[in-house]
Amino acid sequence: MGVIMQTFYWDCPKEEGKEFEWWNYINREIPLLAKAGFTSLWLPPVHKAANLFGPSMGYDPYDYYDLGEFDQKGTVPTWFGSRLELDSLIESAHSHGLGVIADIVINHNSGADAQEVNPITGQSRWTRFDVKSGKFPRNWESFHPCMYESWDEMTFGDMPDLSHRNPYVYAELLKLARWLIEEVGFDGFRYDFVKGYGANTITAIQEYRYMRDGRYFRPYGVAEFWDNARAIENWVDLANFSNSNPVDAFDFPLRELLKELCDSYGFSLRSLVQGDTVLKAQPQTTVTFVENHDLRDEGRPITNDKLLAYSYIMTHEGYPCVFWKDYFNYNLALRDTPNGIDALVTAHEKYAGGDTTVLYLSDDLYIMQRGGYDSQPGLIYVLNNRGDDWRGEWVTTKWTNASFSPVAWWGKHDLSRPADQSTAVDGRGQFFAPARGYAVYAMK
Ligand code: CA
Repeated sequence: MGVIMQTFYWDCPKEEGKEFEWWNYINREIPLLAKAGFTSLWLPPVHKAANLFGPSMGYDPYDYYDLGEFDQKGTVPTWFGSRLELDSLIESAHSHGLGVIADIVINHNSGADAQEVNPITGQSRWTRFDVKSGKFPRNWESFHPCMYESWDEMTFGDMPDLSHRNPYVYAELLKLARWLIEEVGFDGFRYDFVKGYGANTITAIQEYRYMRDGRYFRPYGVAEFWDNARAIENWVDLANFSNSNPVDAFDFPLRELLKELCDSYGFSLRSLVQGDTVLKAQPQTTVTFVENHDLRDEGRPITNDKLLAYSYIMTHEGYPCVFWKDYFNYNLALRDTPNGIDALVTAHEKYAGGDTTVLYLSDDLYIMQRGGYDSQPGLIYVLNNRGDDWRGEWVTTKWTNASFSPVAWWGKHDLSRPADQSTAVDGRGQFFAPARGYAVYAMK
């Protein structure tokens, strides 16, 4: 159960004239997001960034303990606001029952205060960080190459990469995680660019015994490992091998299939359903998504019928994540209607429990059943990829003599309500979706 809202997109404060005040902007939307059924907010990186080429989105960390309190890198607030505004956002989220996820960027740093000669290479590099918070100061030994490791999994541009196996860095990263959870009030982490360092750092952060209000607290975690399904699964296995608080991973391969579904004419639903995705291999540790802040270059964002993709992630297993720009800027929330993301979030929270059974699959029609679990009774999902007409099929569901109503639906050319349906004594029934559309049915 649960739905994440990614509360930003690339350059959002600038695009919307909300420079240095994005926290307040998110804060104002919290009551309605909670009412819509969202359960957590993924915030952009909260630390003071280097901003070497103008305001960044925080993916170039300078001072991890400056959340908008110290006058450095040109401003007191971060690109998103002040520490007080962040505190107020987190407090408001908690009071509405929403968790808050911190985006932590611990592969690389940027914006050092001085150059140092690295004795291993003999070359001068920007590696001295004399940060105003006074916490986690760094010199060349905190970065690759240093004496502690000769292998760096991956580097990020020209930025100096933290050497996690330096015991000082490792301890500081755990201190940072503890501070974010116990003192700032975050409930989990989104780990940026985990390809760049050993999975054991993530295991350690996930496993740490955080204390909150005198009790142990287990943070949520999701990792960005941008690769094919097999590589992501291998990484997750590694990070979760000796880990009582398993980390999730974003399903990048599923997202690419969803893009094909929306943007490629004639794409076969067999490829979508049978394709190699993380969701299929390990649904219990997968965050599904349709769009994110990085998918912004020419040809990357999905440009057609995006609700088809949202209907897929909201009805299937995995922990779905909604993209702010889709929800607000592209108006896909469609509040108070059965035709948008809000109705899908409701369907997800109320019905989308239990195992997944494919009831029918062809190139252009897919009917799926979620079998129900605990308080979520299950649903039937119909996806019609044909452009010309409503389509349906007879299928055998697990429910006998049951009546169904549509709870969420959308069609490219037709938003009329699908008819109620029922199943016979043998569980057989017929379910329909509009052309280039979907319908989600739940038992009455
Ligand atoms: Ca690295």
